[in-house]
Amino acid sequence: MTSEAFRAAEATEAVPCPVCGAKTHEVLFEAGDYEYQLPGRFFVSRCRGCGLLFQNPRPPFAEILRYYTEAYEPYKAVGSSLMQRIRRHFLVAPRLEKYRKLAARFERPVDFLDVGCATGELLAELAAMPEFRCQGLEPVPHAAQIARQRGFEVHCATMEEWDMPDGQFDVVSLNHVIEHVPDPKGLAARICRLLRPDGVLTGETPCVDALERLVFGRYWKIYHLPRHLTFFSKELLIRLLREAGFSRVELHLQPAPTTWQGSVRNYLLAGDFPPFVKERFSGQNVALNLAVAPIVFPCAWLGYASIVHFTAYK
Ligand SMILES: [Zn+2]
Repeated sequence: MTSEAFRAAEATEAVPCPVCGAKTHEVLFEAGDYEYQLPGRFFVSRCRGCGLLFQNPRPPFAEILRYYTEAYEPYKAVGSSLMQRIRRHFLVAPRLEKYRKLAARFERPVDFLDVGCATGELLAELAAMPEFRCQGLEPVPHAAQIARQRGFEVHCATMEEWDMPDGQFDVVSLNHVIEHVPDPKGLAARICRLLRPDGVLTGETPCVDALERLVFGRYWKIYHLPRHLTFFSKELLIRLLREAGFSRVELHLQPAPTTWQGSVRNYLLAGDFPPFVKERFSGQNVALNLAVAPIVFPCAWLGYASIVHFTAYK
């Protein structure tokens, strides 16, 4: 779909803070969809109650869903490029190790649900672990269809639409989903009810306590407007999960050099730069990722990183 043919969504809906419910906010800046270059202007605000950063005012959610086109990266098949191999080593392998440790808590087969499973990448990784009995939940039909064609049990629905009874799962994963939904506390509370009494929620989301956010401002890849609605700090993520019903929450920061790549790209795409400069950063850039690694990894150790892992115990 070309951006010319795409009707821009308008930020017409004022929403209360999804963490504390306050109805007053301060607009911090206005920005566009730099990543996919689809039209529209969006607003990132700070809640005057708890300090949460979130999109407000924003377009109605049905309008935002139109920005998940078939060109959307998570709905594409995973390739075998060098970056994919690096990603597999540094991101996927540690994530699988985490799931293996979680499975060891249960002396039984683990009923596992991947919320927002997209085309089934995580389900494919877990298929090799016999201790997991996996299902996926994915609201976008073309992504759910790809996952089903790969042989996975995937329900095509939003969490609100899904009629699954409570207490069915041991582990639920929520990777890069909670920042996309209009009611993150409602989603977390529903997941808490879906879990058995000793169940665990595990997931990842962007974290605003990141050096990159200060460096890149509105071009920070993690804003990902208009698809990301809520931008958590470590403190407010813990608060939301506790208020959703979880008894204990653990956080672990994840260094993410690729957010620098995406942020540089956003800056170049939004600016008046020659096409050859923009193209230089259009794909994954291994050299840039390696160049920022000496900054990104120590920052994560010090508590400032773009991605946070969370583990929440019922
Ligand atoms: Zn608030």
